[in-house]
Amino acid sequence: MRAEHVRGRVRAGGLPGPDTDCVAHDTGREPMENDLVQSDEMSPQTTRSMREYSTVQVFINNVPYIAMTLLGAAVFVTGFGGLLPGWLAAIAYAAYGLGGAVWIMVFVCPYCRYYDNNSCPCGYGKIAARLREKKAPDCFSEKFKKHIPVIVPLWFIPVLAGVPLIIRDFSWLLLVLLVVFALDAFVVLPLFSSKHGCSECPQKGSCPWMGRKAKAAC
Ligand code: SF4
Repeated sequence: MRAEHVRGRVRAGGLPGPDTDCVAHDTGREPMENDLVQSDEMSPQTTRSMREYSTVQVFINNVPYIAMTLLGAAVFVTGFGGLLPGWLAAIAYAAYGLGGAVWIMVFVCPYCRYYDNNSCPCGYGKIAARLREKKAPDCFSEKFKKHIPVIVPLWFIPVLAGVPLIIRDFSWLLLVLLVVFALDAFVVLPLFSSKHGCSECPQKGSCPWMGRKAKAAC
């Protein structure tokens, strides 16, 4: 382990937690080719591409994620025939969905260019500003890669639980719920992200999801 990394961890409180400083910030290395400049000022090109979202638009942009959480919870209730274990699993899944959103607000959004402004398509950036102070934008890519895996299981848990349940005890309602869940989670939600947020994001060059597409489009 490099000495600079150890020093960074000591500065952050000794043990590596979910929000220690990022490597780029700790080492003070020169920004890499696809990093954003660290200044709070955005280039005229970036400013032009920014779009502000109204409260109604923010709500609409959140609908696919809310729908995924509710549909996933419904899979558990239906799969367990409305019995207590199903309700408990549904509540746990819904709580995970809510907690996952808060996790992103706390550990990713403070590093984002959309922190505390109306250009965040889902409004997390505004809420994040009430939870934490702004952090170094050059850490965004690293924080994104580190924390996104925390919420990824939300996309798979209902499917992994629902398929064995439907094989064991077939139900048309459960089948419909699983299909609608999969369409929402794997088609609608990514489509909303790419159409409403990511394509206009000033950080798409440093985003692990959009970086390759952004380069290909140049
Ligand atoms: S665009 Fe994404 S990372 Fe940035 S503030 Fe909004 S939710 Fe957070």
